[in-house]
Order: sequence, then structure tokens, then C-alpha cells
Amino acid sequence: MALAVAAAPATAAGSFQGTLAVTQPSAPSGATTPVTVTAAVTLSQQCDASSGCAYQPFVTTVAASSACTTTLTSAGWSGPVFDDASGAQPQQATAQWQERPWIYAGPKRACLYAVAGGQAALLAEATYDVPSAPTTPPAKPDPNGRDLVRSAIPRSVGVRRAYAYTLSTANIPRSVGAKRYAVIAKVAASRWGLRLAGTTTRATRSGDRRDYVGFAKDVPSVALGVTRIRTIRYYRRENGRTRVVGERVVERDLSLAVNVPWWVGPGPPPADKVDLQTVIVHELGHYAGNGHVANCTNSPMWTGLAPGEWWYSRANWFQFGCRNAPGATMATTARAGATPNRAAARPLLVQRTVVRRVLLP
Ligand SMILES: [Zn+2]
Repeated sequence: MALAVAAAPATAAGSFQGTLAVTQPSAPSGATTPVTVTAAVTLSQQCDASSGCAYQPFVTTVAASSACTTTLTSAGWSGPVFDDASGAQPQQATAQWQERPWIYAGPKRACLYAVAGGQAALLAEATYDVPSAPTTPPAKPDPNGRDLVRSAIPRSVGVRRAYAYTLSTANIPRSVGAKRYAVIAKVAASRWGLRLAGTTTRATRSGDRRDYVGFAKDVPSVALGVTRIRTIRYYRRENGRTRVVGERVVERDLSLAVNVPWWVGPGPPPADKVDLQTVIVHELGHYAGNGHVANCTNSPMWTGLAPGEWWYSRANWFQFGCRNAPGATMATTARAGATPNRAAARPLLVQRTVVRRVLLP
């Protein structure tokens, strides 16, 4: 069904017509296998060649129950820019994008736009079904963690340190399991170069001068985890001024939240689970001394994580709204500055506290 809308001022962008015909995708072969959706697109415009006829087509997708929007929250496609010379002519293109049935299955709406002169004109829409992922029972995680990514965190992602930590086995949620938790934590720590100093049944407690990694009930309720770093800061007075000359870490602790719908694998998390491996890799990144990075950076150090997102390696990660995520023909708009929808993301905290200030002679 074609729907022609003239949204852009005729002087700037002409007026557009388009059609969109989506081929119903076939069922995915595995529980976390994306399916490719293909659509035939035609576009034409009436434009005044003297004022420029360039435009770019793009397709966004929304749930079929929703209206079309230019803000992509899911899979989508950007087409080639049709330039001044050819832009006035009718164009044909094949749009392709990927759907993730384990995140969303069911009826969807594809929306075809043309962008010109900074404005998006809705040209056509069509509905299709994202087939369900196969409902085979999920594989059991390997007790030895052979499914986990073990490669060292590369320097381009962060600094590795040989700091020691003690693994706390207190408060481990039943859904996680002690054995699986231990292997996930140990593998993540070794990826950052951290050294296992032993295990304890005592819980992480900031201020006890022990460097523990574990589940704890003192995590701020909104957060998935928090790394607390306590330091002594050294000062010297020179020329009437006091300046910081050094800092020594006296305690590092990592606390993971208990009441979270944790996902322990194997494989990436479904849309309603939070990936424990990614959260531990992130927080241990703070433990090793690293700070945060902007969303969509190829790093586990985003400020927050939404259910269904993960970072295992530079070649294997997914964050909603990042078109640079490997294998993800993801949310994109031809308009700069569009905000990805990550409303469900919860923060991954780091708290630094100076516990003592020492003035050196
Ligand atoms: Zn953080």
C-alpha cells in the first residue's frame, strides 16, 4: 500500500512518491540467529532541477501497532544518495535490514522515507511479520566456561593491571549459580590482567580494607553494579599553594546487584535479561582503573547497559541504536543527532572516595 506525503517544502526538496514491498522473511535457523528482511523500493520526485534534487531514502521499522517514526528504535536501512543528476528520475532500490527474533517477534511496520533539505518525507509503509525464534530449550552453560570469550582486553579498549582481588561467594542469586558466577568473574578478571588472591564467603563491604569482587546488597537500587575505589591523597605546600602530588588506592571493591534478571549465557542475552558477563567485564574495567566511554564506542565501558545488550569482544557486541555494532544493520536515521532509544538501560557505576588527605612536609 503506497501512501504519498509531501512533507518538505517544494522549493527545497520537491515532492516525493514511493512504494515499499516487503518480502516476508523466513524463519531463523537458530535461537539467536538474525533474519534478513528484503524490500523492493521505488522512489520518484517532482523537483526543480535548478534548486537541487538530491535525496536519500531510508527505511525505519516499528511495531505494527505503532505509527511510523523517523526515530529508529529497531532495525532499519539507509539507501544511496541520489544526486542532482539522477535525483529527479524514478529510482528503484533493494532495502535490506536484519531483525533479531529473540528480541522481537511479531508484526512490524516498515516505513519508507526520503530525506532532502534536512527534512524527512514519509512515502510509504508496509507490514510484515518477524518470525519467532525456534523454541528449543536453551543450552546449559558449560561449567568450565569454555563458551566465554577469554582474549585479553586490547590496549585500544583500556589499560590492564595486575591488581589483586578476592572473589566473594556471598549473596549469589540462585538464577546465577555459584559455579557459573565464579568462572565468569575469573575469566573477566584475567582478561583485564587482574590476579585472583583467593575466595571468601564474606560479602563485599566498602571500608574493610579488603579488595572483594562479589554480589552485595549495598548497590544503589537503580544500578546493576558499582566499583568503589578508596584512596589516600597526598599534598604538598609550595609557594603558599597546596597541590596534589600523589594518590594511593587503599581499597577496591566490586558490588553486583542481587535483584536483576541476570543472564549467564551461553550466548548473548535475550531482550528481557541483563548480561552478567558484560557487567562484570565493565566493573572490572573500573577496578583496573578505566573510566567510561560514550555509547556506541566499541568498548564494554558504556555508562549503562540495557537488557539484550552485550560486549564480549571488539568483534562481538551489540548495543541498541549503534549501527557500528558488528553484524547489526541497526537503527540509523539520515538525520544527524537522532537519539537511540535506550530507555531500559541501567547505570554501571564507579565511585571514587578520598578517605584521607595527607599533607607532606
Ligand atoms: Zn561504569
